[in-house]
Amino acid sequence: MTSTSAAAATALEGGCTCRAVRFRLLGPPLFVHCCHCTWCQRESGASFALNAMIESDRVELLAGDPELVATPSASGAGQRIARCRNCRVAVWSHYSGGGDAVRFVRVGTLDEPARLPPDIHIYTASKQPWVVLAPGVPAVAEYYDRKQYWPAESLARREALRARRAGS
Ligand SMILES: [Zn+2]
Ligand SMILES: [Zn+2]
Repeated sequence: MTSTSAAAATALEGGCTCRAVRFRLLGPPLFVHCCHCTWCQRESGASFALNAMIESDRVELLAGDPELVATPSASGAGQRIARCRNCRVAVWSHYSGGGDAVRFVRVGTLDEPARLPPDIHIYTASKQPWVVLAPGVPAVAEYYDRKQYWPAESLARREALRARRAGS
């Protein structure tokens, strides 16, 4: 896939603007969403959100102690956004589906965000009309079936995560 081999070469690091929070991704993400929903537009203050989905235990906190801020979500189930306690920049979110076990890391907080381009564009039905999507990247009007789009390795990692959660 697009980003996996590059991301494996050297660890991706990132953090907030004041640098109180710093973290490292211990390997490539499961999948990278570019979300064009109106909720992500509001929460980013821009036109889409770029989130790298990864197991929480593959995000190593190098510095800081982000605060989890309860925030409404489109599903109604809510999300928790991890923000620096000092500058308040958001570094990742937990959604109800994956719970604490999965983080949606905000790609723009990485030192080298260009290393994680989107694997899929979602909720393009509400995309800003001036945003032009690159050819060759899947794009769906709303959400999608994971089995249809995720690489086999990511599906296997997700199954392993589910098994661990069920057994704990
Ligand atoms: Zn900060
Ligand atoms: Zn969204």
